[in-house]
Amino acid sequence: MAECIFCMIANKEIPSKIVYEDDKIVCFHDLEPQAPVHVLIIPKKHIPSLDNVSEEDQALLGHIMFKVKDIACELGLENGYRLVNNCGEDGFQTVKHLHFHLLGKRKMTWPPG
Ligand code: C5P
Repeated sequence: MAECIFCMIANKEIPSKIVYEDDKIVCFHDLEPQAPVHVLIIPKKHIPSLDNVSEEDQALLGHIMFKVKDIACELGLENGYRLVNNCGEDGFQTVKHLHFHLLGKRKMTWPPG
């Protein structure tokens, strides 16, 4: 998936400000932050969206969710945070590589836009 921007970030072909990385996932600062803290958590495996996960991805999805609290703690989000996945056209997903937005350090509102 050479043309996928997030695969390129995961493969260090383009620079990013990485917050956390292991053999399965990468977390890096969003280029256009929508909160004082705004990072993206992505699997290294190219999966286009949450709509495209398969049975074999269950452990990977669990791993991402499990790591959120550690990443949030590392970023000082002790007062809470928001985890967002935009899926597909109506979800306003712009990058077709599965990612979760982790936003914090400001009071969120509901409903989202
Ligand atoms: O959920 P959605 O697909 O809309 O979000 C994509 C996110 O990826 C945006 O917040 C955008 O700022 C971010 N991005 C980035 N670095 C890139 C391309 C997009 O941080 N090179």
